Amino acid sequence: MPTNPANATVLHALFGGTFDPIHYGHLRPVEALAAEVGLNRVTLLPNHVPPHRPQPEANAQQRLKMVELAIAGNPLFAVDDRELHRTTPSYTIETLETIRKERGAAQPLAFIIGQDSLLTLHKWHRWQALLDVCHLLVLARPGYNDRMDTPELQQWLERHRVTDAASLSRRPHGHIYLADTPELEISATEIRQRRHRGLNCDDLLPRSVQRYIELQGLYR
Ligand code: ATP
Repeated sequence: MPTNPANATVLHALFGGTFDPIHYGHLRPVEALAAEVGLNRVTLLPNHVPPHRPQPEANAQQRLKMVELAIAGNPLFAVDDRELHRTTPSYTIETLETIRKERGAAQPLAFIIGQDSLLTLHKWHRWQALLDVCHLLVLARPGYNDRMDTPELQQWLERHRVTDAASLSRRPHGHIYLADTPELEISATEIRQRRHRGLNCDDLLPRSVQRYIELQGLYR
């Protein structure tokens, strides 16, 4: 896809996850992040989970449907289901490289991760190459600080970190921004466990997603 010069300074963001299920801990901090850094579109990218990794409880189609229900009517969000159509696993960096090619070299592009993911980023395939393709926007997550496990990751963070959100739309990629988003103590693991125990999940995820979970008999 050719670059649209009028669009080149608008920061677009992508947000990958297993979304088993999607919950307010994903949606609310990203909405706050959008206001904080000036995002008008966040594209959710449900992951293809390779067979050798622990499998999600919901299948790919159910995880996608839950994402679609959660974002219905909210113009901030879109979904890109390309990873779910793959028959072979793909690494995040490969998906982001493909999207970068489609969007052109000038488009400021960001990938959103939670603070917990940042702390273990050095375990991701070609993790340092992420910044050759996009910025990283990091959501605050309760219980996680900004001290990395390895000095290499810590130094990399310090080298690339910016504190001024405006710099993100001045360059197409290469910065890390730690956002001051609300900390919501919600995880998909907790939701699955509460469902297994027959507990209520009302404040944790949208009503439409809860209804779908009930109808499909998920997380019993
Ligand atoms: P699980 O409990 O199954 O590991 P999860 O709730 O962490 O799932 P994922 O789909 O694995 O959800 O997460 C996708 C992304 O969202 C990750 O980058 C993760 O760090 C981030 N994330 C998930 N929950 C929160 C939260 N409450 N606050 C901030 N970021 C979050």
